[in-house]
Amino acid sequence: MRAPQVVRDPTLPERVTIYEVAPRDGLQNESALVPVDVKAEFVQRLVAAGLPVVETTSLVHPRWVPQLADADGLLARLATDGLPPSQALPVLVPNERGLERALTAGVRHIAIFASATETFARRNLNRALDEQYAMFAPVVSRARDAGMAVRAYLSMCFGDPWEGDVPLDQVVAAGRRLLDLGADQLSLGDTIGVGTAGHVTALLGELAAAGVGPDRLALHCHDTYGQALANVLAGLRAGVTTIDASAGGLGGCPFARSATGNLATEDLVWLLDGLGVHTGVDLAALTRTSQWIARHLGRPSPSRVVQALA
Ligand code: MG
Repeated sequence: MRAPQVVRDPTLPERVTIYEVAPRDGLQNESALVPVDVKAEFVQRLVAAGLPVVETTSLVHPRWVPQLADADGLLARLATDGLPPSQALPVLVPNERGLERALTAGVRHIAIFASATETFARRNLNRALDEQYAMFAPVVSRARDAGMAVRAYLSMCFGDPWEGDVPLDQVVAAGRRLLDLGADQLSLGDTIGVGTAGHVTALLGELAAAGVGPDRLALHCHDTYGQALANVLAGLRAGVTTIDASAGGLGGCPFARSATGNLATEDLVWLLDGLGVHTGVDLAALTRTSQWIARHLGRPSPSRVVQALA
């Protein structure tokens, strides 16, 4: 299989952790319903391809996200599937009810999903921006008491479809509050994919000035406007070493009629392989996995690398 020529950039981190989101963020935004057996095999294949973190599902009410209505069944399957004990398999938890389900399932990593903007908080969480912290506080503290790792997603960090531009200090303030609740990691989401590289650099600079260094951050870039890899590179240059991506680019864009939403993991791995940044991911095995799940979804992968290697 073709591979990029490796030309190491010594100014970049030596290794990057890819946080794989396809089974959750990918499948929840696909119209096709995937059987639980296929989901379990999908997670197994992603783990076998070397992805150190695979977010498996969301414990939202099944009425909200019918694609993930089988979350409890999937977690029960994965618990008996013989995955390595060290494998991180986070689960999205929207509220205390979801946390109860996570505790029952023996989940060790959770993620919460917050908003940087008022409009998205009201639309997605049915809360005012300031009220979301009170909703998440007991979830985070109970999860921490149970020994779980907690990631906080912060959505709409680079633009909001209803509000337009989002001020940097508003994102910094929201991120600080989520970390102060006890979250271990903050994932900065470009939910509609409008961010550009200078914007990433500026936001990371403001966060660092507010005491939030790149070691506590992840970048969740969407490729809707073709900017995801440029934005990732800006993040790497600022020292970010956790990057979110979705195998095969699964997920589309929930707020634009575009096939391209989540950054494809294969496109990210091609970049990082070429830069000589270690990820532990086997690009060939990952690409075969994305071609396999694409057949189950009935549409080709939008990933440029998957298409080029096919
Ligand atoms: Mg996403």
